[in-house]
Amino acid sequence: MADITRDVLIVGAGAAGTTAANELRKAGLSVVVLEARDRVGGRLWTDVIDGAMLEIGGQWVSPDQDALIETIDELGLETFSRYREGDSVYVGPDGALHRFTGEMFPVSAETEKVIAEITERLDAMVAEIDPDRPYAHPKAAEWDSVTWDAWLREQSDDDEAVRNLAFATGSAMLTKPTHAFSLLQSLLMAASAGSYSNLVDADFILDKRVVGGLQQVPQLLAERLGDDVLLNQPVRTLEWGEHGVTATTDALTVRARYAILAHAPVLYDRISFVPSLPRRQHQMHQHLSMGFVIKVHAVYDRPFWREQGLSGTAFSPYELVHEAYDNTNHADERGTLVGFVSDQNADDVFELSAEERKERILESLSHYYGPEAKNPVVYYESDWGTEEWTRGAYAASFDMGGLHRYGKDLRASVGPIHFACSDLAGAGYQHVDGAIRMGRLAAAQILDADRS
Ligand code: FAD
Repeated sequence: MADITRDVLIVGAGAAGTTAANELRKAGLSVVVLEARDRVGGRLWTDVIDGAMLEIGGQWVSPDQDALIETIDELGLETFSRYREGDSVYVGPDGALHRFTGEMFPVSAETEKVIAEITERLDAMVAEIDPDRPYAHPKAAEWDSVTWDAWLREQSDDDEAVRNLAFATGSAMLTKPTHAFSLLQSLLMAASAGSYSNLVDADFILDKRVVGGLQQVPQLLAERLGDDVLLNQPVRTLEWGEHGVTATTDALTVRARYAILAHAPVLYDRISFVPSLPRRQHQMHQHLSMGFVIKVHAVYDRPFWREQGLSGTAFSPYELVHEAYDNTNHADERGTLVGFVSDQNADDVFELSAEERKERILESLSHYYGPEAKNPVVYYESDWGTEEWTRGAYAASFDMGGLHRYGKDLRASVGPIHFACSDLAGAGYQHVDGAIRMGRLAAAQILDADRS
C-alpha cells in the first residue's frame, strides 16, 4: 500500500475541498485531496447527455454570492443571465393557467394581501437572524420547536397563501416536506440569502450561470493542485490524535498533521474513526439529513415557449413539477427547460416505472408550456438519491429541534479534524458559495492552529 505524507489531508474534491486545498497551498502547506468518485466536483457535475450539455448538479449564481463570484472571476470564467423575457406562468388550485409578470403570483387580491403581510413578518424575523449563529437568537428554541408548516398555518387559514409561502424554503430549497423542518431552519435558509424576499425572487436567486458549466470551478481549482488530487480513493478509516491523522483508502495510507472532511455531513459515518468521534458529534450527526429533489432536463429543437411570449419561468404548489425555468445553454439554438420534483412528490414518482415517471413529469410541464412540452429530443432526470457519495439533493439540514440544540457545534473541529461543506455554511448555506466560504474557513482555522 502506497504511503503519502502531507501537512493537510482533504477528504472530498467538491467546491469546499478544492477551495480549502488551494488556500492552504498558497499559505505554504502541503496538501493531498482524496476523492471517492472518479471525477472532481461532487454536487457540481456538467455532462453531455445524448448530445446535450446539462448541469446535473448546481448551476445558478446569485448576486449576493460574493465568494463564488470572486472565485469565478479569479478563474477567468464567464457568466450569462438566465432567459427571463416575457410572462411567467402559474397554475392555481383549480388547475387553471395564469400568466403574470413580477414576483407576486397571480392570486386573488385577498390572498396577495396575506402573502405580502406574512412576507413582511418573515423579512423582519430573518433580519434578526445571524446566518452564522441562528441558534443564538433569543427565540431560537421556540422557533425550532414549531414546524414551518404549523407556523404558517397559525398565521393564516388561506391555503393558497400558505402553500405559496411554504414552498420557497420547502420544496424549492430544503427539499423536505414542510412538516419535517422547523421555522428556525426555514429562517436560516432565508437569512443565508439575505432575506425571505430575496429567496422568493427567482430573478435574484437564479440570476446567472457559468458558460460551459459550473463544474469548471472545482475542476480548475483541482487542476492547480495537479497530482495532489487523487480520484477513486474513498477514505475508509481515519485514525486521529495529538500526532495528527492517518487515513486509509483501499490503496493508500495518508499521514497528515490535519484533516478536513469536505463532504456532506451525512457521510461522516461512512468513515471509521479511531478513536471514535466524541459523543456530541455522534449525536449531532444523527439529526442531519439530506433533502430530496429530482432535477429534470427537457431539451427541444428550439425554445418554443419564447414564441408564445413566455419567459419559461413557471410555478405551482399544486403541480408535480413545482417550479421550472428556461435553462437553454449559452449560444445554443436548442431550447432547454429545467423542472424540479421535490420531497414526497419525488418519493412517489420513484414508485413508478421510468416510462410512467417521464410521462407524469412531462404532463406536468405541459400544464405550464402546452402540449409541445411532451416531446423533448433529450430527457434526463438527475437522481442524487442513488449517488453513494451524496445520497440526496440539494443538501443536508437539521430535523426538528436540531438546529438550536446542535448548531453551535456544527463547524467545531475535533482535535486535528476540521469540517467544511456547503451544508455547514451561514451565508450561502446549501449553495456553492457556502461551500467556498466553508473551505476558506477550515483552511483559516488550520493556519491559525498551525501558528499557535
Ligand atoms: P460536495 O459537492 O458534496 O463534495 C463532497 C465530495 O466529497 C464529493 O465529491 C464526494 O464524492 C466526496 N466524498 C464524500 N465522502 C468521501 C470519502 N469518504 N472519501 C473521499 N471522498 C468523499 N448550489 C448553487 O449554488 N446553485 C444551484 O443552482 C444549485 N443547484 C443544485 C442542484 C442540484 C441537483 C444539487 C445536487 C445541488 C445544487 N446546489 C446548488 C448545491 C451545490 O451543488 C452544493 O451545495 C455544493 O456543490 C456542495 O459542495 P461541497 O464541496 O460542500 O460538497
